[in-house]
Amino acid sequence: MNAVAASTYPHLLAPLDLGFTRLKNRVLMGSMHTGLEDRAKNFPRLAAYFAERARGGVGLMVTGGFAPNVAGWVSPFAGRLTTSTAAREHRVITDAVHAEDGKIALQILHAGRYGYHPLAVSASRVKSPISPFAPRALSSRGVEQQIRAYVRCAQLSREAGYDGVEVMGSEGYFINQFLVTHVNKREDRWGGAYANRMRLPVEIVSRMREAVGRDFIIIYRISLLDLIPDGQTWDEVVMLAKGVEKAGATILNTGIGWHEARVPTIATSVPRAAFTWITQKLKSEVSIPLCTTNRINAPEVAEQVLASGHADMISMARPFLADADFVNKAARGQAQDINTCIGCNQACLDHTFKLKTATCLVNPRACHETELNYTPAARKKKIAVVGAGPAGLAASTVAAERGHDVHLFDAASAIGGQFNMAKLIPGKEEFHETLRYFVRKIDSTGVKLHLDTTMTADALLAGGYDEILLATGVTPRRIRIPGMDEHADKVLSYVDVLTGQAKVGARAALIGAGGIGFDVAEFLVHEGHSPTLDLAEWMKEWGVADPATFRGGVVRPQPSAPAREVFLLQRKAGKPGAGLGKTTGWIHRASLQAKKVQTRSGVNYESVDARGLLVSYGEKREKAELIEVDHIVICAGQEPRRELQPSLLAGGANVHLIGGADKAAELDAKRAIDQGSRLAARL
Ligand code: FAD
Ligand code: NAP
Ligand code: SF4
Repeated sequence: MNAVAASTYPHLLAPLDLGFTRLKNRVLMGSMHTGLEDRAKNFPRLAAYFAERARGGVGLMVTGGFAPNVAGWVSPFAGRLTTSTAAREHRVITDAVHAEDGKIALQILHAGRYGYHPLAVSASRVKSPISPFAPRALSSRGVEQQIRAYVRCAQLSREAGYDGVEVMGSEGYFINQFLVTHVNKREDRWGGAYANRMRLPVEIVSRMREAVGRDFIIIYRISLLDLIPDGQTWDEVVMLAKGVEKAGATILNTGIGWHEARVPTIATSVPRAAFTWITQKLKSEVSIPLCTTNRINAPEVAEQVLASGHADMISMARPFLADADFVNKAARGQAQDINTCIGCNQACLDHTFKLKTATCLVNPRACHETELNYTPAARKKKIAVVGAGPAGLAASTVAAERGHDVHLFDAASAIGGQFNMAKLIPGKEEFHETLRYFVRKIDSTGVKLHLDTTMTADALLAGGYDEILLATGVTPRRIRIPGMDEHADKVLSYVDVLTGQAKVGARAALIGAGGIGFDVAEFLVHEGHSPTLDLAEWMKEWGVADPATFRGGVVRPQPSAPAREVFLLQRKAGKPGAGLGKTTGWIHRASLQAKKVQTRSGVNYESVDARGLLVSYGEKREKAELIEVDHIVICAGQEPRRELQPSLLAGGANVHLIGGADKAAELDAKRAIDQGSRLAARL
């Protein structure tokens, strides 16, 4: 570790002595389901993924969840660890991690009533709002069987070479279901008073400790803030924490919010380190190391949290998808080179929900370490990349990293393309980090950057390039509505609005309710003010409170008044925003609803006049409605921008289209970066 880094992050990089073993720093890589856990044939990929992160300096890693039995599956045939044969299959993972001087714990995850299958069990037969399957209520014998399954799973984890286990006791899974009265209606020793309801986790940990011995890490992930109306009180949480500590847990990790909670907990619009105040509350109540979590994505934030006594360790999960080398970079004093997780969920959690292998929007190598590698090029080529948006940035830096002579051109005076608009949306401040990362990456890989340079086909053909990559992005779709020309001052493009070239009046109608329509609506109702940058305001907006005062830590949200009245329109029927991310769409919809944005679906745009926008509804164009607004903002998608392609092809150049220049429909930065990186890895 160099001296600068040691003094910059002294708390984060300090070792942690657990008595029987020592962690090299205070960084825990939190559990993430990657999709590779479910089949042993994918374990070599999982091994490469974890090994890379162990090499990157993480103190302790936790696997994605493995069920201790079939009843505990999250979904049918999800990963489980129930036999010695299965334990042997895990050896490839634990050996790979230990070869890199890392430590790894297996997460034991019993889904209970969140199980998306008919074999699900719980404290009582109370269906969850997020699974169609009502669970079977366990008999007393059934409860004992589940405890034995947890213990056996921990023993098998030890047999498999893991350094420990994490007992998943948060996010609303099986254990939580015993803790709260709206799921636990039992009248036996597992139900009734809180002392009975918390018996399950305490028994699990104490019997587990007895079975695995003293020199094995048991992390208990405790839900400190349930964020549901019937959630635990603070006194109950403290009682449980003390009980679990006494039962033999080594580390307490934190969980925030049940999956059914209607409060965002990890999305990009959640303020950084938004929940460390709750671990601070618990800190004086327990003596084992306490790990805090959620929306901590930068070493300076982690350091600050530890320095101010909010916790003993920091759990970060997605930041290690974005950059496996996070800890080493911090330790080398190169934090500016970290590829920061922007909290978008687009390639990680959204993939998991679609049963696709997780990866990362800013790092397509995540979970693809065995097939996507940026190895030195066999022959150095001269490459032109036109467009420094996400596609061009990824392609140029990967190509240069591989040893090519890369020239990156952009007509604008800064890199980033559309990310320069995305970063202006309240709640999307993290997008700045990707641009900061690429500025450094351009420098470190030796890409020759030419800003303020609009490239022409002639200039490119004259440049003698072996390969030309067109990453020229998109242009906003132009649409025609009668009256638009006569009232041109009323009609704006989202680009005019976001770049500040046009001022929007007190009432605005947005044509198009895709990702950009939603973002422009956020921009207009907040008028430059972002609750993401103000924790107290954000908590008010979403109704997050101290569980010492309000059970579960939730109260009625009190959003501030919108800056203007906004109408969000689309032609198709159905709920606007249906195409937004699986794990974030509900947040955008709830946020706009709180700001009283009015949505209209199934509209026909009839005409624009001095009063506003006239629309009708349905195929028969019935029910005309005049939406009186000062401005109409067009957010109606984009068309690819590739006017250079024909002349380049005619001139005999090797031309490749990437990102929006290739396909504008359903374009996002995930596709742009993935396509740019993969092409550059092959050139
Ligand atoms: P662009 O980003 O469009 O970049 C193209 C670049 O090419 C531009 O910089 C342009 O100046 C340059 N260029 C064009 N022609 C020339 C030329 N002849 N010479 C030199 N330079 C040229 N995506 C997500 O995944 N998640 C989000 O949350 C998200 N939010 C968004 C929010 C907003 C408000 C906007 C506008 C977009 C958002 N996007 C989001 C979309 C994402 O930004 C785009 O998908 C992505 O930027 C496309 O990348 P690209 O490299 O293909 O093109
Ligand atoms: P989009 O998602 O394709 O939405 C375009 C909208 O315009 C739709 O609501 C569409 O709805 C409407 N539209 C299309 N053609 C029209 C026409 N001729 N006349 C009137 N309306 C028309 O595109 P976008 O909102 O511009 O976003 C671009 C890309 O950026 C998206 O693909 C998205 O993935 C990405 N992005 C993502 C996020 C995110 O949070 N993940 C945020 C912003 C942007 P109707 O056809 O029903 O009217
Ligand atoms: Fe973070 Fe987005 Fe990558 Fe997920 S996909 S790890 S949220 S940057």
